[in-house]
Amino acid sequence: MTTKPAAAAARATVYGYPRQGQGRELKKAIEGYWKGRVTADALRATAAGLRRTAWRQLADAGVDEVPTGDFSYYDHVLDTTVMVGAIPARHRDAVAADPLDGYFAMARGTKDVAPLEMTKWFDTNYHYLVPELGPDTVFVADSAKQTGELKEALALGLTARPVLVGPVTYLLLAKPTPGVPADFAPLTLLDRLLPVYAEVLADLRAAGAAWVQLDEPALVQDRTPAELDAAQRAYRALGALTDRPKLLVASYFDRLGEALPVLAKAPVDGLALDFTERAAANLDALAAAGGLPGKRLVAGVVNGRNIWADDLSASLATLGTLLGLADRVDVAASCSLLHVPLDTAAERDIDPLILRWLAFARQKTAEIVTLAKGLTSGTDAIAGELAANRAVLASRANSPITRDPAVRARTGAVTAADARRAQPYGERAAAQRAALGLPLLPTTTIGSFPQTGELRTARADLRAGRIDTAGYEERIRAEIQEVISFQEKTGLDVLVHGEAERNDMVQYFAEQLVGCLATQHGWVQSYGTRYVRPPILAGDISRPEPMTVRWTTYAQSLTVRPVKGMLTGPVTMLAWSFVRDDQPLADTARQVALALRDEVGDLEAAGTSVVQVDEPALRETLPLRTGDRPEYLAWATEAFRITTSGVRPDTQIHTHMCYAEFGDIVRAIDDLDADVISLEAARSHMQVAHELAAHGYPREAGPGVYDIHSPRVPSAQEAAGLLRTGLAAIPAERLWVNPDCGLKTRGWPETRAALENLVAAARTVRGEL
Ligand code: GLN
Ligand code: ZN
Repeated sequence: MTTKPAAAAARATVYGYPRQGQGRELKKAIEGYWKGRVTADALRATAAGLRRTAWRQLADAGVDEVPTGDFSYYDHVLDTTVMVGAIPARHRDAVAADPLDGYFAMARGTKDVAPLEMTKWFDTNYHYLVPELGPDTVFVADSAKQTGELKEALALGLTARPVLVGPVTYLLLAKPTPGVPADFAPLTLLDRLLPVYAEVLADLRAAGAAWVQLDEPALVQDRTPAELDAAQRAYRALGALTDRPKLLVASYFDRLGEALPVLAKAPVDGLALDFTERAAANLDALAAAGGLPGKRLVAGVVNGRNIWADDLSASLATLGTLLGLADRVDVAASCSLLHVPLDTAAERDIDPLILRWLAFARQKTAEIVTLAKGLTSGTDAIAGELAANRAVLASRANSPITRDPAVRARTGAVTAADARRAQPYGERAAAQRAALGLPLLPTTTIGSFPQTGELRTARADLRAGRIDTAGYEERIRAEIQEVISFQEKTGLDVLVHGEAERNDMVQYFAEQLVGCLATQHGWVQSYGTRYVRPPILAGDISRPEPMTVRWTTYAQSLTVRPVKGMLTGPVTMLAWSFVRDDQPLADTARQVALALRDEVGDLEAAGTSVVQVDEPALRETLPLRTGDRPEYLAWATEAFRITTSGVRPDTQIHTHMCYAEFGDIVRAIDDLDADVISLEAARSHMQVAHELAAHGYPREAGPGVYDIHSPRVPSAQEAAGLLRTGLAAIPAERLWVNPDCGLKTRGWPETRAALENLVAAARTVRGEL
């Protein structure tokens, strides 16, 4: 295909860039500041240097308009809270005394004051700090951070566009301040918030902004007519301002749906839309809405949240179609590049041939620039780039890594029976009761025990060659011995080996599966200074050999009580990795499920009578649009059942999920057909037990009675109280006693005390039955 040159030159831009720096300098500076080893001035200087480097990188690559204000010491939603002056009352003194320390107090809490709640940024693995708003909230504009960073970029001679969280999304992400009735809707504060945005916009214009971007990703979710109406009012009001820069309203992560005509008709100057596969419907919807006459369209054609090289010809075709729909079309990634690592060039351990399949932030930037050039000057101007891109795509498509005939034959042969246990739950429960001989209210844990400094040192020693594999495994066995003997002494009923050998519950398995890649420097911000290195599920997945069996059987050899085998489920494996984009997620999930099914089978054959398959991510990867959820839940629950359905009736399958909001997936939890589920419940006073009961959940459940997110040790009375609450919803024959989640982040002293109290509580309540 040849694209004719566009009338106006297309500009290349991005909405945000990784914040941390190539060597995670930002993490080091911030954590150093917390420990008192780095001064505030030094931290500010490091941050300014990182911003400068990022802007230069973008500009040198050919980006025409760089983003500003996307940088953050912790989180851009928290920055927005500061920008609109919505500081919670409990943090006001700290913020007044020292804005930087007050900022970190809001993010992390202090010994006296609780932080803001943290939750997931849409369906990404980034977490934001939830604004707390109430009827008494007074907004006050504080544009210093935004104007300051804009001026820094302008001083470098760059064209810069401040990026702000939009007012509607900000309010929709907020929750009522503690103490305010839960049905208070922060969106009712819109009229109070808009003047503050007006002030910030005027300040930004005065500071030199020609354009400002307002991000409204909340509008890609299902919205009520009242919410859409609020969006309409917001952009009518902001558009009508006279003292303002041009406004670009951005959305990403999905299609805009009903919000598209609302924004298209708003008196703003441009829209930025996601045109990647998941938001493909935006294209037809935009055409149906009559395009964007007189407006600028920023086309997010390069996937900003995955790590695969773009199909440049396909993107160019999309861009060509869009040319007919707006006054001017610019090129961008679908969302901020915050969600991908910085640079593939830092990877030394990945085969150079495969490395070319990947595009991290720097590579995506180059793709965007190439596309803008192609759009402006025609395909001939980028003929070399297009040819190279075709070669990369062909190499990926034809690689034996992405096409393993044995894996494909096996996934193709899966039948409905493979995803169903042979016996109904009632029969299984009886067989398990007979085989396991557990007391009522059996006690167990979720899997991991404290990951001590020694364990991490041992892993680092192994990597650095200071100890050999035999030496490392010796240390792991010693740890397992300790964990087993502690559990026996404490009187737990179903034991675990403690997961000492695992660096991470996804990475550990990814490293052992064929078809997965690990990166050395592929860090992505999860929250604050916590960065993760998601594995890349790059090819067809298979399991060359057992992954956990020897540790579980070693643990079992030390005790006569049952030791639970411990696996990460297929949905969580996908959710916490970068996933291939050349086949449906359901197909990848099925491949992972079959590999895990073999592991479950090997555990059973080696004498394991209880196997837990963790799916903490089942809830978090729910599609943003409710209409898309049934299809997701169908393949996700099927993958779990493929993993777990090959076992005997007397082998007990457990699953585990974190997070408290289960309302919309109770049905799916039922569809997993696990014999036992453990869930987070301590902080919500066993609410989930009641939700399960209300749904008529027929199987066994362990709502957590110990909140492992805090070092606080619950007393035996407190745990017993929670158990009694649980018993009001779930009968004793089906109620388990366990903590909320794994103990890997806890220290040994509180773990010991809490589990002793948990066992004591179970004994007390058993005595009352
Ligand atoms: N088995 C894992 C552990 O105990 C589960 C962790 C999780 O659900 N996030 O650490
Ligand atoms: Zn958990």
